[in-house]
Amino acid sequence: MNPSENELLGIKFTTEFICNEVQKIGFSCKGCADCCRDNGNIEETIFVGPEEIRDIASFTKLEWDEIVTPFPEIIKIPEGGSVTFGWSLKRKDGACLFLVENRCSIYEVRPRICATYPFMIDEDHLVIFPCNGLTYPIERNDALEISERLMDRFYKENKEDKKMQEYYLLKPVYSEKLCVIDSEGIKERELWLN
Ligand code: SF4
Repeated sequence: MNPSENELLGIKFTTEFICNEVQKIGFSCKGCADCCRDNGNIEETIFVGPEEIRDIASFTKLEWDEIVTPFPEIIKIPEGGSVTFGWSLKRKDGACLFLVENRCSIYEVRPRICATYPFMIDEDHLVIFPCNGLTYPIERNDALEISERLMDRFYKENKEDKKMQEYYLLKPVYSEKLCVIDSEGIKERELWLN
């Protein structure tokens, strides 16, 4: 990401700064896969955008609705119908659908949230989620890789959010079906998919 993009997004820090923070905190993935299971401690909904869904679809040969479900925060529209923003990875038996024998079966195309866990950039600060791998020493190069992924995620999520807002402001006629607004537009789904 170049400096002008940083300024545009109002990011108050650089990749270098995040890298230093990650190194100070320390992190080494222990492969416990707790972040892929329902454990009541973490945000268990893995939000994914259209680009990520298509990557997973081409990797797994699964259809869109076999991979994701409408994001579970559904807003009822007073004029009728309901709407939600984006998609979340499907879950099964208390874990992500793609957790197989305690490993990620889509590791090469895992969502940005997974590739940056347990960290997240929230406007002007670094959020840290519970994780068994925190506080372990981390090499500079690995911290740098995480911070680059975090910046990339922040940038892409920001762009997707803006697109979703634009589509929402178009004030579409909401149907009896659930309307899912993502960065590509407004998509209808049967309510039972939730
Ligand atoms: S996509 Fe992979 S890393 Fe992400 S929650 Fe599912 S199994 Fe875990």
